[in-house]
Parts: sequence; structure tokens; C-alpha cells
Amino acid sequence: MVALRCTCEQGTNLWGVVSRCRKDLLEEGQGVVAFVFPLSSSGSERRIAAVYTACKGICDRFMRSENRDRGYGTTYEELEDLIHPHGFLRWDSALRNQLRYANREYYSPEAYETLNEITLKISQKVLRQPTTEERNKYLEDQRLRDLGL
Ligand SMILES: [Zn+2]
Repeated sequence: MVALRCTCEQGTNLWGVVSRCRKDLLEEGQGVVAFVFPLSSSGSERRIAAVYTACKGICDRFMRSENRDRGYGTTYEELEDLIHPHGFLRWDSALRNQLRYANREYYSPEAYETLNEITLKISQKVLRQPTTEERNKYLEDQRLRDLGL
């Protein structure tokens, strides 16, 4: 399973090196997926400048406070809710609806890419492994599609 790391960077240590938590949140079974937006953006439309994952508690508080100092607000989803099959589907569908119909959220290219990566990593915990038969059928269908058949 590919790790979903806490991306918190809590300042520098004695040697001037930025210390990163780097815990695998999927292994820990806790954390947040956070959405960072400029506090200046209007209420009906929110621009998502960045997306990050962090441990609940110290790491997330640190990140939120850093962002607030730079003029950004943060909303978040609890990872526990997202590694639940129904919670995952609700979240994924809500995100798509916001983008497609409400047009209320705009993502920076980096934030959108990060969000896709996070979603794929979380899906490892939610979706089951395909059987060999399912995998072979999928690959065969894919091959035919690539050939235009
Ligand atoms: Zn952490």
C-alpha cells in the first residue's frame, strides 16, 4: 500500500533542518485532508489554493496556524470518515458535484493534482483488490478500447 504521509513541516531543529512528521496516516488510521483557501475569497465562491494531509492535533494545528498567518483559511475532512466505503463515496461524489454543478470551488492546478493523489491513496483502504479474473477482463477490455474496438 502506498503511504499517505502527514505533510506537516514543523519549523527547524537545532541543525537548521526542517523537521517533517511523515507519519503514514493510512497506517495510523487518523488524520485530516485539509483544503486551504484565501480568506479574501468571497463566501459563494472559494478558491482552493492547496490541499494537504496531516495528523489530527499538533500537526494540523501547526499547519492551520501557519496558513492563517499568511491570510489563508482551512477546512478539513476527517480521514476516519473517508476510509469508510460510504463516507468515501459521499466525499468523492460531493467533490465532483461541487466542481460540476455548483461551480463554487476552483482548484489551483497543484491543489487539484494533490487532491487526486490523496483520493487514490485513500481508495486503497476502501476498495477491494480485484480478482485475477476481474483484472484480466479489465486489461483485455482496456486493450480493445486502445485498439478502437
Ligand atoms: Zn503529523
